[in-house]
Amino acid sequence: MPELSLRDLSTSGADSLVHASYHGRAVSSPDLSTVRNLGIVAHIDAGKTTISERILYYSGVERRMGEVHEGTAVMDWMEEERTRGITISAAATSVPWRGLSLNLIDTPGHVDFTIEVERCMRVLDGAILVLNGTAGLQAQSETVWRQIKRHSVPYLVFVNQNDRAGSDYMRCIDELESQLDEPALAIQYPLGEEREFRSVVDLLTRRALRFREDDKGQAPVEVPVPDEVSDEVDVLRAELIESLAEEDEEVLAEISEDREPSPELLQRALRKRVLARTLVPVLCGAALRNVGIQPLVDAVGLYLPSPLDRPPVLATSAETLNPVSFETENDAPPVALVFKLQADRNEDLAFIRIYAGTVRPGLCLYNPRTKQTGRVARVLRMHAEERKPLEAASRGDVVAISGVSGIATGDTLCTKKENLYLERLEFPDAVLAQVVEPRTGADRDALRIALDRLTVEDPSFSVREDSDTGQWLISGMGELHLEVMQHRLERDFHIPIRVGQPRVAYREAVAAPGTGELDLERKLGGTPYTGRIRLELAGTEEGLASSIEWSPECEVPAAHRAAVEETLLDSATSGPRFGFPLVRARVRILPFGKAHQSDSELGFCQAAAQALRLASEAATIELLEPVMAFDISAPAEFMGGILAELNSKRADIAEVRSDANSRTVVGRVPLANMFGYSTVLRSLSQGRASFSLHPDGFRAVPESEIESRGLAWV
Ligand code: GDP
Ligand code: MG
Repeated sequence: MPELSLRDLSTSGADSLVHASYHGRAVSSPDLSTVRNLGIVAHIDAGKTTISERILYYSGVERRMGEVHEGTAVMDWMEEERTRGITISAAATSVPWRGLSLNLIDTPGHVDFTIEVERCMRVLDGAILVLNGTAGLQAQSETVWRQIKRHSVPYLVFVNQNDRAGSDYMRCIDELESQLDEPALAIQYPLGEEREFRSVVDLLTRRALRFREDDKGQAPVEVPVPDEVSDEVDVLRAELIESLAEEDEEVLAEISEDREPSPELLQRALRKRVLARTLVPVLCGAALRNVGIQPLVDAVGLYLPSPLDRPPVLATSAETLNPVSFETENDAPPVALVFKLQADRNEDLAFIRIYAGTVRPGLCLYNPRTKQTGRVARVLRMHAEERKPLEAASRGDVVAISGVSGIATGDTLCTKKENLYLERLEFPDAVLAQVVEPRTGADRDALRIALDRLTVEDPSFSVREDSDTGQWLISGMGELHLEVMQHRLERDFHIPIRVGQPRVAYREAVAAPGTGELDLERKLGGTPYTGRIRLELAGTEEGLASSIEWSPECEVPAAHRAAVEETLLDSATSGPRFGFPLVRARVRILPFGKAHQSDSELGFCQAAAQALRLASEAATIELLEPVMAFDISAPAEFMGGILAELNSKRADIAEVRSDANSRTVVGRVPLANMFGYSTVLRSLSQGRASFSLHPDGFRAVPESEIESRGLAWV
């Protein structure tokens, strides 16, 4: 495998900017060492989409530069995103860059879509964390940073918006160190402030590049480092080299003998540290003004991992559930992970990361979860909404495939012989629900089909049909999430709908156990049928899932047990007290008595449903509500008002952090008290606060509060 040439990728100034051409013809997978599966993550509005657009433009993939505020950004391709100017659904795009193949994933920043970021993180090899230079670390930048850590992804930091008044590159580095305890170090130095910010010094090469705002696409020019910052640059450079010498013998040897380490040596040493995650390099720029983008992408090539640099992924045998390893060569049996599905009217696409072997059209892939095999129709390289067919794609690559049906996000695709699961993704439980119905009865079937497709595409979105009212209850992760789903129904699927007010997705749980029993004797068309069930309903502690156990002496014949379990789980979808789903329940089926001649499956199932109803009447049922973790930052003068208001919402305040003139409060609060909070916060802070809310489990609603929630008993 040829080594990635550091010289080819180094930021060598004016001569180095090549517009790679992007051919429409079919191509196969590139040399793995040149592949970078890259995510760009940030707090909303830090500039992810603007950066992605610049990368597409400078690589030659796009002829025109899209702008978020004009609604022309190529990466924000869903109509919903263009009108809102935010990135909702991660779009994967492949970009050639000076001998590199970048698979770029533009991830959504809004908390309602955190699940998308989590999924992408799972399949990426490296990331760029973008900070807004004027705001520093924001609530959501910490959330995505936690995800980066959880998946052990090597990353760089890009301090964007450095052209704005109040932007402070060095303060951002301090915050990374002091608040996140990250080994962050400057590898660039910005020249000029606000609109005068046009140049960036590379500390490894000690060369400054000047970018021009107007000449879209032209190469930056090399300029001398001005005298007045020369000392500052030397200090930062010495600090960087010293840090590299700590873990690199060659660099240490050079500086202890008073020689100047070569840029190539420093780059190699820095790459090792980034891959080991013992150093986080920080760069700067202003994407909107076209400053600093080319060196940023060069840094991705120089310092972020290729698929070869990443540890092997864990797999489990689908048969024994024991850990297994698998061959990863291109000619090995294929193994891929589905990390995103995208449904549209013509074709269902599955975005996959290939971990072993080669995937090509016509290949049969096995899904261990469904035990189904499907044939790949097309293998596609995606450029926002455009698709280029490939002859094949191999391990390390991120592509979309079509033709294989019945798959869900998180599924593993492999061969029947391999039969394994890659690490499974976990999905959060929905916190908000809303009633949806078609405006005209004629659209009922179309709506049912559309809702089905949306649930397949997005595992944090779920749908329940209420057979009594003929309405659907959709559930998701937040107001924006549900709103986007409604707009997709209307715009992408052309179904006019009516919706109710969004409301908290409550659950019911067992606080104290109860038992119930029923001895059933009925007739169907003159033939008697019987069955009897005695059961105990109790609560469990962990997760929300319910479980069913059979006591060893229980007489229900094994052949009927699956049907009885299904009946019980089905009854639990509508809880005994308010009709919310019953969760965290443990049903234990107890011995009852002897068998009858006329015992039947139907008899046992009906007896089970009624015994469960009786047991829940005997039990104590409590109401659970979703709780949100919040993180609110505002200038110090507004914090008093914000805290008082949070107290009136019965929030648990965990901590108030102060930093220069700004204050950050973190804690937990019931979601039910947070509707319309962004408007409240805006008026409390004259629009200067920012906040993030993310689901953080469930808690029991105190009985004294239940009445004020306006809930009716069933
Ligand atoms: P995202 O939410 O992270 O994708 O952020 P966007 O790329 O949508 O950018 C948010 C807003 O900030 C847009 O109006 C951009 O035009 C603007 N913006 C992005 N980068 C810069 C920058 O470097 N300087 C300035 N002044 N504005 C920027
Ligand atoms: Mg965006």
